[in-house]
Amino acid sequence: MTRASKPPAPPAPPADADVATRLATVRGVIDAAAHAVGRDPAGVSLVAVSKVQPVEKIRAALEAGQRVFGENRVQEAKAKWPELKARYPDVELHLIGPLQTNKVKDAVALFDVIQTVDRERLAEALAAEGKRQGRLPRLLVEVNTGEEAQKAGIAPADVPAFLAACRDSHGLEIAGLMAIPPAEEEPAMHFALLADLARKAGLAEVSMGMSGDYDLAVRMGATQVRVGTALFGERLKPATEAAPEPIHEGAEAGEG
Ligand SMILES: *Cc1c(COP(=O)(O)O)cnc(C)c1O
Repeated sequence: MTRASKPPAPPAPPADADVATRLATVRGVIDAAAHAVGRDPAGVSLVAVSKVQPVEKIRAALEAGQRVFGENRVQEAKAKWPELKARYPDVELHLIGPLQTNKVKDAVALFDVIQTVDRERLAEALAAEGKRQGRLPRLLVEVNTGEEAQKAGIAPADVPAFLAACRDSHGLEIAGLMAIPPAEEEPAMHFALLADLARKAGLAEVSMGMSGDYDLAVRMGATQVRVGTALFGERLKPATEAAPEPIHEGAEAGEG
């Protein structure tokens, strides 16, 4: 069902297209969107969101040359990626889902980028674990652009202070900002807000845009788009993004 307030979805590959064809289609859409606004397409990274997808599809994407992937749960990523990373050492793995502090150790060991830094206690835990392991993923701060009560992320007005706390209190370098706009709203204003917050903070990375709107996100300044279903087809299991997210520091125990 389409809503009048939503932008038209980017051109989709045929339903029966294989992963390599889908990849080429999505990359073509990204390149065209970048050119349309005078940007270098090389400045936009395609994060292939492989959560819940069968490993054969991930392998097909790897064989087609895709190297940047996103997963939203630490446990799921830990079950499937160490083997794939051993085979394809230049893979760049992004965590795009909520991170509980009791999963920080695994996340720091496995991921190359963590896009969902969203509270000071997590920043503190990441800094400590980075010292312990002598490795720290690149970090993005998640922004709750829609100020939705149930959603993780820093409120837009609090972003400058949170970035300062990450840097000054925890010694963390933040590479950019990430947002998931409210599902029912026109994403353009959220994309504009996120790009503006990043620009004002002097941050290079802007992660925004999913299967339904990544072309718009690129036109509005995304340096990373997170695309799942347009690349891999519909997810077979229920979407795991419905899993409980840590809103309060006390609510962290449950992730599987
Ligand atoms: C699942 C997910 C995506 C990809 O969504 P699609 O609509 O399948 O492209 C992007 N970002 C986040 C944070 C996600 O959880």
